[in-house]
Amino acid sequence: MLDGCVPWPEATAAAYREAGYWRGETLGQLLRDWAAAYDGRTALVGGDRRVTYTELDAWADRLAAGFAARGIRPGDRVVVQLPNTPEFVAVCFGLFRLGALPVFALPAHRHHEISHLCSHSGAVAYVVPDVHQGFDHRELATQVRASVPTVREVFVLGDPGPHSSLEELSATEAPVPAPDAPADASPADPAFFLLSGGTTALPKLIPRTHEDYAYQIRAASEVCELDGDTVYLAVLPIEFNFTWGCPGVLGTLSTGGTVVLARTPNPDECFALIEREKVTMTSCVPTIAHMWLDAAEWTERDLSSLSVLQIGSAKLHPEVAARVTPTLGCRLQQVFGMAEGLLTFTRYDDPLDRVLTTQGRPISPADEIRVVDSEDRPVAPGETGELLTRGPYTLRGYYRAEEHNARAFSEDGFYRSGDLVRFTEDGDMVVQGRVKDVVIRGGDKVSATEVERHVTAAHDGIQQAAVVAMPDELMGERVCVFVVPAGEPPRLPELKRLLRARGLAEYKLPDRLEVIDAFPLTGLGKVDKKALAVELAQRLAAA
Ligand code: AMP
Repeated sequence: MLDGCVPWPEATAAAYREAGYWRGETLGQLLRDWAAAYDGRTALVGGDRRVTYTELDAWADRLAAGFAARGIRPGDRVVVQLPNTPEFVAVCFGLFRLGALPVFALPAHRHHEISHLCSHSGAVAYVVPDVHQGFDHRELATQVRASVPTVREVFVLGDPGPHSSLEELSATEAPVPAPDAPADASPADPAFFLLSGGTTALPKLIPRTHEDYAYQIRAASEVCELDGDTVYLAVLPIEFNFTWGCPGVLGTLSTGGTVVLARTPNPDECFALIEREKVTMTSCVPTIAHMWLDAAEWTERDLSSLSVLQIGSAKLHPEVAARVTPTLGCRLQQVFGMAEGLLTFTRYDDPLDRVLTTQGRPISPADEIRVVDSEDRPVAPGETGELLTRGPYTLRGYYRAEEHNARAFSEDGFYRSGDLVRFTEDGDMVVQGRVKDVVIRGGDKVSATEVERHVTAAHDGIQQAAVVAMPDELMGERVCVFVVPAGEPPRLPELKRLLRARGLAEYKLPDRLEVIDAFPLTGLGKVDKKALAVELAQRLAAA
């Protein structure tokens, strides 16, 4: 396995193979199989372009050859930051075929995040769009290249400017396997890296192996009953685990369905695509569901093809959940998931009250779950505690993060999710809260520590900063930062400008700034965030 990754114990891996969860598949080979089975059917729709399975397969080969010709080798890491386009899928499969590893960046990421992803992964290349939503990624790429010496190549979708053209790369004809390695990876190797929505100052990388992810998409597709008639609309960024493989894009491709790529979650655009492409299934976060439900009251678009709406990634309020079927005329499926692995889904035949109020059950019989108190002791059945999990598609360690891994995993390999959950008598999971210090803004995870560090460093008038979640009807939560001043602190617009200049992604910027003389402290001398949340509630009520 790639250096810096933590394998499953050998006996566990053998048991997963024995049980048929892991089948020795690689993702690059799977596309080959899908193309053989579904050849001329439409795999991807992006704008007016339609790509068949056969075309996608050949495109991935050409890209693999092109990357190899540019010196990308098996085991190399390549940061991929593309919007929802067919190119994203083709680039990933091109890299899988080569045995190189895409690192999934979000389109919203900026210099701070990208330079970290490149340097931490030791990336040799970076793939970007030219201009996306008004932002010139080529300039960002120039800066990243200058600051991260391992990044030798930048490939641009669209006008390449001073960099290389992604289109020209895929013009390379014959597949050229790297001379010193097999053309495809080993099933137990990591295929790509997802980003953790975690608590650390910088995002951790989650290695997902070929066979663990192949199993995830198979298990998720079975629960969701995908087949060749499935038309899946990718609404959230394709780099999200939710969109990519729960069952999402890959699950749909595995069953011969069609993936339609939306550029934005905007209801006007998405409803038009649902009508035009007869979309049957999609997935989104509660904030988007909320927007769609309001828009659906007025739309003249025909949404009758839609049969399932998955909602996950953040807490869904039962009142919003209850509007889904009456308003959109489709089933609701609640999804709890994490890029680290474990997925729980409500099932199509669950009674309505369970669909509206729970996050369902794990998708695999091999998912192991513990709910524990702060001393790691199992809580009584039905009680709330921290969710710990391990299983055939849940990681055993973050990439190059030995010290963090010692805290994030139990000695016997259970991942500490930081989520507080309870299980009902029926065996459904209900998310109750969390012990980890993140704000879930829409579906985006914002690490409090990361923002606090930047806020403190951004301005001389700030001595200390503490981030708390601010409840919000539409977004679920927004980011509020309390600051202890040292002189004259900046106002919110100025602080945001300074944070942008530090290269921080827009979704992490504070929505509210509160000044306080001193932070309340816990008995252990830490900043008491619960007390700060109460303080915030009082100030909001008074305002
Ligand atoms: P990510 O890895 O970015 O998908 O974030 C995973 C985290 O999102 C989980 O650990 C939870 O904190 C949160 N999460 C995911 N799904 C749900 C859900 N259905 N309800 C509440 N929180 C969720």
